[in-house]
Amino acid sequence: MKRNHLTTRLCLTLCLSVGLLAFYGTSARGSEPLEKASISFRVAPSVWSDDARFEQMLDMFERHPGATDEITFFTQTTHAPISDEELERRCEILQKRIAQVHERGLRSGINVLCTLGHHPEDMSQVIGPEYPRAQTIDGVVAQATLCVNNDIFRDRIRRIYGAVARTGADYVWIDDDVRTGHWLDSVGNSGSFCFCDACMALLSEKFGKATTREELKEKLGDPLTLTVIRQFASDSYDKMFALIEEVVHEVDPKIALGFMTGERYDEGYDFTRWAKTLEGPDGDKEVYWRPGGGFYDQYWMAGLFDKTQQIGRQIALLPPEVKVIQSEIENFPYQPLKKSAAITTLEAVSHIGAGCTGAAFNVLTMNEEPLDEYERFMTAIAKRRPFMDVAVQKLGRAPNVGVLPLWNKNDGNYTNRTPVQTLTAGIMETGIPVAFDYTQPADVLLLSRNYLDHLRPEDAKELFKKGVYLDNDALGLANDPGTYALNDLTGMEYGGVITVDGIEKFTSHPLNGRFGGRTRDLRQSFWRDPIFALHLTRPGVEILSSCVNYEGETQAEAIVGIFENPLGGRVCVNGYYPWSNFYNYPKQAQIRAIMRWLSKDRLPGYVESFGQIHLSLRKPDENGRFAGIAINANYDAEENVAIRLKTEKDAITVYDYDCEKRAVSATDVDDAGYKLFVIPEIKAWEAALIVVE
Ligand SMILES: [Zn+2]
Repeated sequence: MKRNHLTTRLCLTLCLSVGLLAFYGTSARGSEPLEKASISFRVAPSVWSDDARFEQMLDMFERHPGATDEITFFTQTTHAPISDEELERRCEILQKRIAQVHERGLRSGINVLCTLGHHPEDMSQVIGPEYPRAQTIDGVVAQATLCVNNDIFRDRIRRIYGAVARTGADYVWIDDDVRTGHWLDSVGNSGSFCFCDACMALLSEKFGKATTREELKEKLGDPLTLTVIRQFASDSYDKMFALIEEVVHEVDPKIALGFMTGERYDEGYDFTRWAKTLEGPDGDKEVYWRPGGGFYDQYWMAGLFDKTQQIGRQIALLPPEVKVIQSEIENFPYQPLKKSAAITTLEAVSHIGAGCTGAAFNVLTMNEEPLDEYERFMTAIAKRRPFMDVAVQKLGRAPNVGVLPLWNKNDGNYTNRTPVQTLTAGIMETGIPVAFDYTQPADVLLLSRNYLDHLRPEDAKELFKKGVYLDNDALGLANDPGTYALNDLTGMEYGGVITVDGIEKFTSHPLNGRFGGRTRDLRQSFWRDPIFALHLTRPGVEILSSCVNYEGETQAEAIVGIFENPLGGRVCVNGYYPWSNFYNYPKQAQIRAIMRWLSKDRLPGYVESFGQIHLSLRKPDENGRFAGIAINANYDAEENVAIRLKTEKDAITVYDYDCEKRAVSATDVDDAGYKLFVIPEIKAWEAALIVVE
């Protein structure tokens, strides 16, 4: 059932209004060109604390010009906060290291790994018990995570960030321990935002009455309570960021401050606010951002793109003046064969496609060993550096455009993070570009029940003036007579469930092109996902797929349907594995055709030929110039990669992965103005840069 909560709804309404304003205004985002990618290497104490190894690293970078622009020093390897004295001692060494890096012509800075502390490790070195620890709602004390809301902690911030700022650093990074969800203890129980006595007193003020942990725990499922806690978390971190900004810029106003994020909603997802705070009261200080996520090995390659999509969402709401956005590329625990140099490099390129302007490689050793085995990473990155530089030049900070998987930063927690990711991942695999910024207008919306669940009826209705792709679950809620009752706009309703032997059969509808009559069998006897038949409730619904059994008998006339509703919106309901398994040509082609139809031919472009090409595209400027990246996410090279683009230009420029540039002329233009450009080849796990100018 729909959550009946005023605050959440008000928040979403506000966000929707912002979106509409953005629709009518013009965005200045991405207007300033960037010269090149910003590449950094993060190095651990095992490298910087040893004179010989440190010199070896500098020599290696000299042999591979372009592999990095910056050397960023981790204050520590382990994740429990160390004492202020020890950190000051390390800063004395790092001051010398930074000078040595500067002598080699590179920039240098410090990454404070533990501001609050991530989790218990090497507890013999942990900061003293006089520093208040974070506590869970049950009162369990986190062994290695500090509470932010006390004067002892604030004194620590002044002391350690002051020491870090005095090293001559060009920039200072705050790591992603500034978050909820750290680990409580050595067995990995998860922590939360702090509910210590001091925090409870502050929270009580927010609630307007004295509240105990026990009372609060009872109400944790209540959206209003969660909203207040999330706001409190955001406020607490914001206050800390303001203090860090003050302390660091008091030492040197030229130091850029960077913050690392993950796709986490519990702490408020207030990236815009925090970026503004780090820019200082006058808004003139440079801020860096490092969006991250977990992709530590190459065993499951879809994980790379999952991370790219998370990163796209982390960047989407950042203010345009944040120019240095280095994706976190991490190969923890840094065994060089766990993620190849080629994939490590491609990962950076993929994230650049989603909005990053560089990368921070955290791939070198944390062990006591020489660096020889790690040189492969420097070689690979230096080789692809020209491609990354041109990509960042051409893509800039222009927002990603395409279909929009609906999400909202105020509408998230760990339980409903999965749907937006699910919505995004499968569709991207078909070569349909995806947008991340939900405040910008989009012609096609991918809708989950979880998203719809939070909307006011009038806002839900607004969605259906656009192109909407949804599954049976969301359809059920959209039609629910007690909530939205949008049957007039959806044209379809639940028409029964098929639990065994259901095979999708493509109809001879024009959107299926030459694939009418083909089948797609996802073997329900193995995966057991239900298939949902559609009951057509309004005239004008057209059927793209029906369902048959192994004898060819029809199980359901309609399992994929499309409908143009009286408001001019277009709808596609997919009842057969709606978000995944688009790996055969008929389905890939159908999904592409559906997305284009839903957009009323306003989709900016898409891949037309068969192959697993991930395509990202950016918003065109006022002269119709835009760029994008195509990545071949398969182990087969693809020849003649055909891409349809909505452009008036007759030729585009394509840079291959070696940054060789060639002009590609359109070989076809269709009635809607989509031109066809054919890239001769994209090799396996390589990228091409597409530039329209
Ligand atoms: Zn606290």
